[in-house]
Amino acid sequence: TSGRTPLMAGNWKMNLDHLQATHLVQKLDWTLRDGRHDFGAVEVAVLPPFTDLRSVQTLIDGDRLDLRHGAQDLSTQDSGAYTGEVSGAFLAKLGCTYVLAGHSERREYHHETDEVVNAKVKAAYRHGLTPIFCVGEPLEVRQAGTHLEHVLTQLEAGLVDVTAAQAATLVVAYEPVWAIGTGEVATPQDAQEVCAAIRTKLAELYSGDLADGVRVLYGGSVKAANVAAIMAQEDVDGALVGGASIDPAEFASICRFKD
Ligand code: PEP
Repeated sequence: TSGRTPLMAGNWKMNLDHLQATHLVQKLDWTLRDGRHDFGAVEVAVLPPFTDLRSVQTLIDGDRLDLRHGAQDLSTQDSGAYTGEVSGAFLAKLGCTYVLAGHSERREYHHETDEVVNAKVKAAYRHGLTPIFCVGEPLEVRQAGTHLEHVLTQLEAGLVDVTAAQAATLVVAYEPVWAIGTGEVATPQDAQEVCAAIRTKLAELYSGDLADGVRVLYGGSVKAANVAAIMAQEDVDGALVGGASIDPAEFASICRFKD
């Protein structure tokens, strides 16, 4: 991870209401501090449902917790007649640092295309949010052996008209769809292969210096038991964690992967 601060981001998906969210964040903070977590060395972020964000913000700001928070999605639009949508402007007001763009569940269940994901990445930047831009291949593509092409096509399409100044703060998450929520984790070598290819593509699209600074996360059934081997890979700079992130002890252990 040469000089890049690892990021552990917990995607809660559609779990935990705002009261449960407060409990989880408190427990996570206690558990991390109890284990003398070095917050400067490994950044920790939670990505709760929209309805939890205000409570999570209040707790993090009020108790000055060293945790970041963010959302799981945002609108391509900034305001107006878009019933049910949530603007990046509102997320920024709630103190969000991060927002997911292009999670595979959004691509699959809400038919988000690469063009929509690109519009969401740009919407995030318009409001000063850092997108955690998700890419990853389904099982058929992995079996056909064309996963690198698939992921790099998604990457390039999602970054159309994203400037170098914007991309300098980008976070990319490589999440093979066949590993998400399945308990089947990619091998550390598989994760490294794709994360390295993502970095090489960023160097082509922007510059080597920029690519060196961008954090590339792995996601897909990350747990305390498998995180260390994945994090030992040179081009893996953190994890996007789904299921295991709603268990505060498990997520804290993931964040302390170095111990
Ligand atoms: C995710 O939702 O981004 C994810 C990686 O889920 P899980 O950790 O449950 O596989």
